[in-house]
Amino acid sequence: MTTDRQTAQADGSREQATTAITAGRTHGSGSLAPALYPSTTFQVGTVDESRKLATQIRPTHFYGRYGNPTVAEFEEAIAQLESAEAARAFSSGMAAITCTVLGLCSQGSHIVAARQLYGGTRLLLEQVCPRFGIEVTFVDGIVPGALASAVIPGRTSLVLAESPANPRLDLVDLDELGRIEGPFTAVDSTFATPLGQNPLAHGVDLVIHSASKAIGGHNDAILGVIAGSDDLVEWITGFSHLHGGCASPADALNGLRGLRTLPVRIAQQTTTATAVAEFLARHPASSQVRYPGLESHPQFDLAKRQLRIAGGLLTFDLAGGGSAASAFVDRLRLAIHAPSLGGPETLVCHPASTTHIGVDPDDLAADGIGLGTIRLSCGLEATTDVLADLGQALDF
Ligand SMILES: *Cc1c(COP(=O)(O)O)cnc(C)c1O
Repeated sequence: MTTDRQTAQADGSREQATTAITAGRTHGSGSLAPALYPSTTFQVGTVDESRKLATQIRPTHFYGRYGNPTVAEFEEAIAQLESAEAARAFSSGMAAITCTVLGLCSQGSHIVAARQLYGGTRLLLEQVCPRFGIEVTFVDGIVPGALASAVIPGRTSLVLAESPANPRLDLVDLDELGRIEGPFTAVDSTFATPLGQNPLAHGVDLVIHSASKAIGGHNDAILGVIAGSDDLVEWITGFSHLHGGCASPADALNGLRGLRTLPVRIAQQTTTATAVAEFLARHPASSQVRYPGLESHPQFDLAKRQLRIAGGLLTFDLAGGGSAASAFVDRLRLAIHAPSLGGPETLVCHPASTTHIGVDPDDLAADGIGLGTIRLSCGLEATTDVLADLGQALDF
């Protein structure tokens, strides 16, 4: 749904950075900023017209839980950036993931999941799915072939992975995931953003984002989105009408605003993260620096193959463990201790006591998340100031 003018200009050879500017302008009103439609409901005309709208899966001008013009513009932009037929926005990344899992699975279904997942996703699979008779097999997503070999033909409904994964930036081979036949395949691509990778181009069926992170980009929207084929997105959308986790138009507006500057923000954050990763790799107080742009990343070759940009996130361990992590966080003056990522401010987070708090400590240790593990989301401050702050905080 682009305006005639944009259709005429559409040109598949354009760079993603350009698409981030041109995508999601469906109204053709001349307004450069997206229009906010806060209305929960729309006048529907005749009873016949109402009947037609009530049976559509994604009407934009009917009732707000089914669709909204502002939200539709954000969805259109994501679909274009992911080269997907369709996208659907949700009230959060977790709503997107919950709707995908519960929309595609039933009692008796089987899910194969990479173990390396955002804590909330992991808890959904470990604690909620069994209550509904959905069985989940976790495998190590970095082991080649592990996801495919855990698939039970005829029974597995969904293979779910996250790449790069929270918090240690482990990667799943997207080509390998895309080649799995039978079950639906889905990737949480939040850390990469649509600029960093496009899982659908690797044959994966569905890409999921928490747009609360880099896509929104300013820490002012809780928002999620999925993109894939028309049929698949429509099916999950149908379930989402009952689940109720529809995106707020105000958050979708901020999501679309965020997309416009995503390319330059990611570029700056990558510049800083690269410098920080190199600095930490040399610093005696830190160890195990994990950054997809560093040659020391155990999957550096895969990162080069499937990530267009290494991004602003990295993880490292403080040799002094939990007490060193506390001291480091207390000493920071510029970087802020807060549990999110992808915004303008450099944020540090202690996964063991935030994003992964509910996960069994032994399981965490097996995945290399300890009390000394720190996740860093590089912001948009001057690189030198971020480096100076981290440097002084490490001198304890
Ligand atoms: C934050 C996050 C989520 C959850 O998204 P919300 O918008 O907070 O619900 C899911 N996956 C990843 C990788 C995340 O970072």
